[in-house]
Amino acid sequence: MAQDTMEKLVSLSKRRGFVFQSSEIYGGLNSCWDYGPLGVELKRNVKDAWWKAMTQKHDNIEGIDASILMHPTVWKASGHVDGFTDPMVDCKQCKSRFRSDKIDLTKPCPTCGTRDSYTEPRMFNLMFKTFMGPVEEDTNIVYLRPETAQGIYVNFHNVRESARQKLPFGIAQIGKAFRNEITPGNFIFRTREFEQMEMQFFIKPGTEDGWMNTWREERFNWYLENGIKKDKLRFHQHGPTELAHYASDAYDIEYEFPFGWQELEGIHSRTDFDLKNHQQYSGKNLQYYDQEANEKYIPFIVETSAGCDRSVLTFMVDAYDEDELGGETRVVMRFHPKMAPIKAAVLPLVKKDGLSELADNLFRDLQKNWKVFYDESGAIGRRYRRQDEAGTPFCFTVDYQTKEDNTVTVRYRDSGEQERISLDKVKAFLAEKIG
Ligand code: ATP
Repeated sequence: MAQDTMEKLVSLSKRRGFVFQSSEIYGGLNSCWDYGPLGVELKRNVKDAWWKAMTQKHDNIEGIDASILMHPTVWKASGHVDGFTDPMVDCKQCKSRFRSDKIDLTKPCPTCGTRDSYTEPRMFNLMFKTFMGPVEEDTNIVYLRPETAQGIYVNFHNVRESARQKLPFGIAQIGKAFRNEITPGNFIFRTREFEQMEMQFFIKPGTEDGWMNTWREERFNWYLENGIKKDKLRFHQHGPTELAHYASDAYDIEYEFPFGWQELEGIHSRTDFDLKNHQQYSGKNLQYYDQEANEKYIPFIVETSAGCDRSVLTFMVDAYDEDELGGETRVVMRFHPKMAPIKAAVLPLVKKDGLSELADNLFRDLQKNWKVFYDESGAIGRRYRRQDEAGTPFCFTVDYQTKEDNTVTVRYRDSGEQERISLDKVKAFLAEKIG
């Protein structure tokens, strides 16, 4: 898929209401995006699928929703105040700014083509600062969290005790994170405000290799189960120079975007770094008493850290297709039915002879269980095409035969094929396909 597919996707997003530029009527705000009616449904489906895969399918994973603003010492303990920096260079000629670890400094500036025009790299802290209370002074500084994980670590004992969990167990959270990225871009791939879906799994020291394997496999399969093409996904293991100083092992799940292979999710073996530091900075005991072994220790952590917006982009890129159907070129979003923003459309063939009423009855009935769409305007072919672009997997068409034998046609988005099913089977059909 070439880069121009990204342009097509951005334009489809605006046209159909997946994603809009933030504050567009004011000229937009760099790297900020708003989800429209279809996008917000897709994003909710991504989050629901993740939440289910974590907290519903595992009785040893609990959910939380922590505050975005946290005690400022959290970010000292986590290492973010001192170390959450990226190296930054400026082009002296055109003033463009880059992350020096993401470009080749021996090559000309990618914006203006000048050679040897870069400043020396400077370290830049990515945390957004603000002030708590009415007085803007240093003692009142708080940070917008740059990751959701810390809200999990500081609640380790709260969750363990209230949910009566024993190791190994996990805590899952979905929420906003903020990073003052030097070079955001590629649509919703890298933004300054984004959502993460993180799960921190607390384990006995020494068992981390086994849990890394388990979670790597489970997370990779999650993307496949939700329809992502296998040949577009791969693992990348961090080499010694990439590995964070506290990590004993780390893998990225990468996806082949139109702009190349990029990280989608990180699976990291974080040792006891997080709880050890919070114990030191808070002065609170964060050890775990292991009854079976009759010993106390600080748990190790294996984390799975996925970007929600980045997943949305992945589902969109992966679904985007253009093909020929009935001699016409069409754009079709081939979402897995679980991810599709609209699950089905109900269409009367014509507006007269009582077909609208029959279709409306079916629509109202399906609406109780799923996000469905009713459309009676325009030629039937055009209505199908509109649903293809939105990624709606099934269209149910009410026609004259419906009045005779209580059947409707179901039209499949991917093949364009149609078959008749009886009206009283439509619900069971959708339940089976969507789950
Ligand atoms: P990068 O090296 O690309 O800056 P990272 O390794 O710092 O990313 P993590 O801190 O491991 O990323 O964050 C976990 C996940 O959060 C990433 O895999 C990604 O999906 C998502 N994420 C991180 N930064 C952003 C961002 N600026 N915009 C959107 N998603 C992000």
